Amino acid sequence: MDYDSIAKAGSMLGSGAVIVMDDSRCMVESLKRLSYFYMHESCGQCTPCREGTGWLWRLVDRIHRGEGRPADLALLDNVAGNIMGRTICALGDAAAMPVRAMIKHFRPEFEAMIRADAGTTPVASATV
Ligand code: SF4
Repeated sequence: MDYDSIAKAGSMLGSGAVIVMDDSRCMVESLKRLSYFYMHESCGQCTPCREGTGWLWRLVDRIHRGEGRPADLALLDNVAGNIMGRTICALGDAAAMPVRAMIKHFRPEFEAMIRADAGTTPVASATV
């Protein structure tokens, strides 16, 4: 285990925590709680983290409420991508990485929670 190997696997070394969940856990709800934590912990000093963590939480919350839109997963990825590498401290990356990882590994669970007849608001003008 070293910095380069962990980075290649899509994560990073540092202070951290291990969360153990069984397969009955709702991953959308889990990401919602995680996103709320980072939004709450953001000190607000840099814009991508201050604004982006709120966007991430509101998007995941919308999906969890059953009001997700088909474009929301791409929008989540876009917001996370605009946080990563653009903040002063590592909290921004720490907030964005789980979003991308959860969608990558549990995408069907997120898609199932997005209603089939969800709105078609274009990403550029979507309100969250
Ligand atoms: S990335 Fe760090 S410094 Fe920037 S707003 Fe978030 S917590 Fe504050």
